[in-house]
Amino acid sequence: MAELVDALDSKSSAFGHVGSSPTAPTAVMGTYKRFPVTLLRGKGCWVWDDHGHQYLDAVAGIATCSLGHSDRALRRALGQQLKQLQHVSNLYQIPEQEALAHWLVENSCADSVFFCNSGAEANEAAIKLARKHGHRRRGIDRPIILTANSSFHGRTLAAISATGQPNYHKGFEPMVEGFEFFPFNDLQAFEQQLNRLEAQGPSVAAVLIEPLQGEGGVNPGEASFFRRLRELCSQHQILLIFDEVQVGMGRCGHWWGYQQLGVEPDAFTLAKGLGGGHAIGALLVKQHADLFEPGDHASTFGGNPFACKAALTVAKEIERRGLISKVQQRGAQLREGLTDLVQHFPRQLKGVRGWGLLQGLVLQDESTFTAPNVAQAALEEKLLVIAAGPKVVRVVPPLVIKPNEIRQLLQRLEATLAHFR
Ligand SMILES: *Cc1c(COP(=O)(O)O)cnc(C)c1O
Repeated sequence: MAELVDALDSKSSAFGHVGSSPTAPTAVMGTYKRFPVTLLRGKGCWVWDDHGHQYLDAVAGIATCSLGHSDRALRRALGQQLKQLQHVSNLYQIPEQEALAHWLVENSCADSVFFCNSGAEANEAAIKLARKHGHRRRGIDRPIILTANSSFHGRTLAAISATGQPNYHKGFEPMVEGFEFFPFNDLQAFEQQLNRLEAQGPSVAAVLIEPLQGEGGVNPGEASFFRRLRELCSQHQILLIFDEVQVGMGRCGHWWGYQQLGVEPDAFTLAKGLGGGHAIGALLVKQHADLFEPGDHASTFGGNPFACKAALTVAKEIERRGLISKVQQRGAQLREGLTDLVQHFPRQLKGVRGWGLLQGLVLQDESTFTAPNVAQAALEEKLLVIAAGPKVVRVVPPLVIKPNEIRQLLQRLEATLAHFR
């Protein structure tokens, strides 16, 4: 949940108090600016607070609860797994981990998988892999990883170093070295930087990039940019690594974000939607990028039977219920409704962007209110949405959302925007 504080725009003071709930004394560290709402129960796309108020959940644990809340298949599978075996070490063979890895490689361009517990950790594994590739394959002493401006790769030290947003670095310097940044979707700038860095010989190990920047403002990648990126990386033997932590696992209307772009990465990372609300992350690699040897990387909890059973159940349920094509249909419905809202609120709203059920409603630059203000006002309309930066309202409901629930979502969003007339 490290991202929550980002979603609430912690660096600005624009986020005020919601409702009248007094802030109770707490022993929890103050790393999050939380809404004063206590959610106790959920079912499908709905959650209930401690006063019995019912909210439509278009946050889904930040694009995490793919099957919604309290899903029957997940409850059954995990109940059974808890009774059977919850955790064993990676010192032993783990059939649930084998089965999940098998499913992932059967259904993606990857050939093998490393399991961990979160998005940041998956990117840490990718960064280590990239550096090993730089040393071993390209003979670079101090390999550089290129990442995009306004990217988000997580909150561990290497992951914030990889994140192209200086406000995440402030106060935690020195950053991990070996990262350089380029403007997202800007081919000319990227080529210039690459040529400069590679002029004296190999220096770049990898490009780490989101197919669509989620946290950075719901910025979709452009296919032409990514196609050229693929060509350049292949030419230079540079690993192209996609951070699919937010877009992967069906969210964008395909299983994987790279399918939306028509470009295959050498490796990619997953987390958020993978476990349907349970902690699991993964690094997936093609065979030629599979450089890790025994002892190179490890995780105590990574890939344990419980987490893998959760993810495997999510995958099988998405398949069984045909949710990929439903995400496309519901995504189109949502997109259409949001586009109507932009027409109804021209002074407040600038546009809509996103893929599938990851959509961003972009506020006018001159608007006097922020996306966190909208998320706060939405609570009064019993709707949960989150910000992606100061001027983008992110709508990421569970993948199981139904047409009439999309309609309610849009009605509640319209009522919310009326607060800012
Ligand atoms: C959320 C997110 C992360 C970080 O994931 P955690 O599980 O919070 O560590 C990394 N990359 C992207 C693209 C994300 O959206």
